[in-house]
Amino acid sequence: MLNWNRTLITTGSLCVLLLSAMLPVQGKPARQKKPAPTATTIYQQAKKELPEDFYTLYRVIDRVARANELDNRPWRVVAVPKYDVNAYASDINLVAIHDGILDQLAGDSSALACVVAHEMGHHTKRHIALGVAQKTELIAKIEQEATKEVLGEREAANRESTAATVGGVVLGNVLGGNVGGFMGSILGNQGAQRQVESQQRINEIVEKKKKELEQRLAEQERQQEFEADEIGYINSVKAGFEPEGCLRVMQVLAQMPGAEFDTTHPAVPKRIEAIKALIIKYPPQTLVKEGEARISKTKPLTYSISKDKTSLRINSVRGGSQADDIERRFDK
Ligand SMILES: [Zn+2]
Repeated sequence: MLNWNRTLITTGSLCVLLLSAMLPVQGKPARQKKPAPTATTIYQQAKKELPEDFYTLYRVIDRVARANELDNRPWRVVAVPKYDVNAYASDINLVAIHDGILDQLAGDSSALACVVAHEMGHHTKRHIALGVAQKTELIAKIEQEATKEVLGEREAANRESTAATVGGVVLGNVLGGNVGGFMGSILGNQGAQRQVESQQRINEIVEKKKKELEQRLAEQERQQEFEADEIGYINSVKAGFEPEGCLRVMQVLAQMPGAEFDTTHPAVPKRIEAIKALIIKYPPQTLVKEGEARISKTKPLTYSISKDKTSLRINSVRGGSQADDIERRFDK
C-alpha cells in the first residue's frame, strides 16, 4: 500500500503544482484567451505529470472510451501494489490493475488495452451490480422457503409431542405410578427428537440449495467472462490496438496454476479458442475503421485525481471541473 500512497501523493502534488502555475498573476495585464489545448499538449502534459503506469492507463482509457462511445461517464483507475496477474472491475466505473499484470505485460499496450477494455465491459454490462443483487435476492428466497418448511415441520412435531404427552397421562392413569409416566416421557421425547431431526434435515436442504445456487451463479459468471472477453477484444481493437493483444494476455494467464480448469473464470484454453473465433467473426480492419471514425469526431479526455484521492479519474466529455463548466455557461 505504501507504494500506492506514494504514487498518489506524487500525482496529486504534481497536479496541485500545475494548477498553481495556471492561476492568474496579480499586477499583470488581463490574460489573452489561450488557444484550446491540442491533443499533443494534453498528452505531453500527462506524460510529464503522471507516473508511467498511470500515463499508459490514461491513454488506453482515453482511446477505448472515445472509440466506443463510452466517454459519457468518468472512469477511474487504480494500480494495486500486489504482484498478482490480476485485474478487476469494482465500485462505480473503477478499473483496478494489479502490479503483477502491469509488469508481465510491460511494453505491450495492446495486451494491457485488452485487459482494461475487458474490465470496462463488466461495468457497461452491469455484471457486478446485477450479480450482487441477484444473489442477495435468491438467497433470501431460499431462506424464506426454508423457514416456512421448518415452521411446517415444527408444527407437525409439536402436534405429535402434545399427543404423546396426552398419551403419557392416559398410560399413567391406566398403568399407574412411575411406569406410565416413564412411557409417556419416552413418547414425548420422541416428538422433540423428531423436531431436532427435521430442523437438521431442513438445514441440509438449505445448504444443498445454496450450493446449487452457487454453481448456477458460477456458470453465469463464466458466461459473463466470455462476454467481457468479447467486449475487451472489440473495444480495444476499435481503439486501434492489436487484436493479438488479447491472445497475449491469455498466454500470460495460461501459465497460472489451474488455468486449464473452469473456476470463477472459464478455463484459459476455452477463452483462447473463443478469442480466435472473435477475430474471424469481427474482422479487425472493420473494427479499426469504426473506431477511427468515432475518435476523429472527439477530443482527448482530460484527467484528474478522484475526489477520494485514491484513483486517477479519466473525465467524461464534460470534463472534470464544475467551476469550468459554470464559466463556460455563464460569466466569469
Ligand atoms: Zn472479467
